[in-house]
Amino acid sequence: MITAERKPLDEILELVGDKKKILVAGCDTCVAICLTGGEKEAEILASELRILAEKDGRAVEVEHTAAIRQCEWEYLDMIADKVAAADVVLSMACGIGIQSLAEKFAPKLVMPAVNTNMLGMPQEHAVWLERCVACGECRIGLTGGICPVVRCSKSLMNGPCGGSHDGLCEVTGPEKEEIECAWALIWERLKAQGREELMFTDRPPKDWSKSSSGGPRKMVREEAKPV
Ligand code: SF4
Ligand code: SF4
Repeated sequence: MITAERKPLDEILELVGDKKKILVAGCDTCVAICLTGGEKEAEILASELRILAEKDGRAVEVEHTAAIRQCEWEYLDMIADKVAAADVVLSMACGIGIQSLAEKFAPKLVMPAVNTNMLGMPQEHAVWLERCVACGECRIGLTGGICPVVRCSKSLMNGPCGGSHDGLCEVTGPEKEEIECAWALIWERLKAQGREELMFTDRPPKDWSKSSSGGPRKMVREEAKPV
């Protein structure tokens, strides 16, 4: 799922500026599941903005709403009236949802209230782990179902670097936690699958032009188009 974290309130206030009618728009899919930007979180942010405005003596109207999915325009039709009435929309959807809303209602001022950060796998309640960056050419069939692009700190595609030790990566993570070496994990998984030979197989070079570093991508499923 796509995960996101709410921006600090100071930054949100700066983005809103002196606008008088604010609509906080949640999205009830990924960002709701990761407890960041669903209808409930939109209501909370709207309340915070109202309380702050009252405290500062500013006359501001703050509404909240949510779309089932902000990334799909048919769901945005349902909140069109509220968007039209607002001077600024604070979207709590992922980066796709925010841009979808901004594009549908352009030139309406649409601001991000969250930072979209990764494609995450839930580990336990309120904890997500990055597992994929949508590189466009999935290689985990050769690596025991473990993604070296994301899980190796250097995105090495052909085995470990010299810093791998005791199953750990030489690179320390952002929270100073120890990181498991992806290639140690891959080796253990391949051994458990009886496919150790894959560790020593020449892998074709990865085509990075299929990743977002090759420019914005487009997916067309001709067979799925209506006839
Ligand atoms: S190889 Fe690419 S598509 Fe496959 S899991 Fe890793 S980042 Fe995602
Ligand atoms: S120690 Fe392992 S995970 Fe860390 S950079 Fe080297 S190969 Fe990648």
